[in-house]
Amino acid sequence: SRKALIAANWKMYKTPAEAKAFVDAFLPLVADHTRDEIALFPSPVLLPTVVEAARGSSIAIGAQNIHFAEEGAYTGETSASQLAAIGGTHTLIGHSERRQYFGETDDIVNKKLHTALKHGFVPVVCIGEVLGEREAGMTASVLKIQVNGAFAGIKGLAAEVISSIVIAYEPVWAIGTGKTATPEMAADAHRIIRAEVSSLLGSDVAANMRILYGGSVKPDNATALIGQEEIDGALVGGASLKPDSFASIVKY
Ligand code: 13P
Repeated sequence: SRKALIAANWKMYKTPAEAKAFVDAFLPLVADHTRDEIALFPSPVLLPTVVEAARGSSIAIGAQNIHFAEEGAYTGETSASQLAAIGGTHTLIGHSERRQYFGETDDIVNKKLHTALKHGFVPVVCIGEVLGEREAGMTASVLKIQVNGAFAGIKGLAAEVISSIVIAYEPVWAIGTGKTATPEMAADAHRIIRAEVSSLLGSDVAANMRILYGGSVKPDNATALIGQEEIDGALVGGASLKPDSFASIVKY
């Protein structure tokens, strides 16, 4: 069975001092929690502080984004080697805010996924439909296109490399809006995604791939969402910014 991953996407929030205070308060709250994996995704300037503060715990630390190039003249970007060097082990790829505000396409997501896997990161590939697509009945076709685009050329990689990939289903209309997908809507989308992974990469890979839900996950809806057989954890934005709120989601 798939081990759940409960992940915090802090987006562009917190100073280093606030990030350290979060980790110091959060670690004791989840010290006894060994059921699931926990990961924090802070801004790049917070990463060394957060890695240091979480050292010795089982909490994984990752970036919200990496560049696909090994290095080069890419002002403002962070490379996979730079992330690895400061102790990061995970990275988000293709978050809807990257797609919406920074022009990330499925092709860029695919390049970043290959780079992340080459460097041994656990990549969390984010996909999801916008409201207009859902209302037009296009959710399934959008998700299939995003899965196919992200996973181009992945089939040829070693099984243990492929097995590190995590997908996060984040319906864009549910992000930061307080409108969460119902557990049934989320589970339906997860089944569509898993079926597409199965047809691309085989049923064994699909059965083992973790698919997280993201979009207005809060302490009071976490149990219903993550409790679904199809939902293997959560990617949490707003409710991950406070230690007690994120800890209560972790303990859903
Ligand atoms: P919210 O939990 O604030 O809706 O954000 C979800 C998200 O985008 C996580 O990546």
